[in-house]
Amino acid sequence: MGSEPLVIRNTWTAVLDHARTYHDFTYVYPVISRRSRGLSIGINLNPDKACNFDCVYCEVDRKIPGKAQLVDLAQVRDELLWLIQHAQSGGLACEPKFTDIPEALTRKVRDVAFSGDGEPTMIHNFDTCVDQVVEVLNQCGLTETKIVLITDSAGLDKATVKRGLERMDANRGEIWAKLDAGSEAYFRTVNRSKIRFDRILANLRETARIRPIIIQSLFLKVYGEIMSTTELQEYCTRLMEITITGGQISEVHAYTIARPVPEPWATRLEPSELTNLADEIRRLTGLKVVEFP
Ligand code: SF4
Repeated sequence: MGSEPLVIRNTWTAVLDHARTYHDFTYVYPVISRRSRGLSIGINLNPDKACNFDCVYCEVDRKIPGKAQLVDLAQVRDELLWLIQHAQSGGLACEPKFTDIPEALTRKVRDVAFSGDGEPTMIHNFDTCVDQVVEVLNQCGLTETKIVLITDSAGLDKATVKRGLERMDANRGEIWAKLDAGSEAYFRTVNRSKIRFDRILANLRETARIRPIIIQSLFLKVYGEIMSTTELQEYCTRLMEITITGGQISEVHAYTIARPVPEPWATRLEPSELTNLADEIRRLTGLKVVEFP
């Protein structure tokens, strides 16, 4: 896709500040993302903060109630169109949060990502949300911009989500699916979800059989303890179960806590610790692993 992206620096204000808010907008917000390698426009489909996980590292402050409301598709469309045109015309580059970034990075929309304050697949009309994004990207002539779904995978078996994924497949879609554990017990410790782990795994296998997926895994210390060797082996086995049943994993994103989280006992890994884990995943699975220390 075009020229190589510039290096994304951890010290840039917009990289440090990943606030999912933008002026008086409800759904749409800009971030400079290391994983997107540039400007990513997020669409928060969960201003109500609804999520079926309760990850120990979640940055969403649920003590402050969300806005309970259905997603207003017309407003999503208007906010997205305005922000894309604002970025393309150089307006974003002039805003204080983005002035320390090379201007070219703020003008090129690398992806539009369904992300935000909860789990995007929990909404009832995911497919029509995808349609809106496709329409706006076409209107803006963005024929290379990806459409990304960042998901905990619990809803990948829903009919509306499957329809949305098919539309994403036809429009440069990418699925970034969370997998932080290898065992049910560690899944309960880190993701604290009532959803059964085997449903998550089945959804990952099924989805990856239809198109390649990216696995996103956050590694951390829980009460000072890094993931055990046994758990890491279990995790690698889960990845291999996806591939040996016909699924494709294009890459694994291994990252750690980057910003303060509400649970003080959930802490980040040192870069060398993350590298050691990533090396072991490469050795055991043969998959491409990209590190985000
Ligand atoms: S899946 Fe995402 S939004 Fe939900 S609790 Fe985990 S980190 Fe937070």
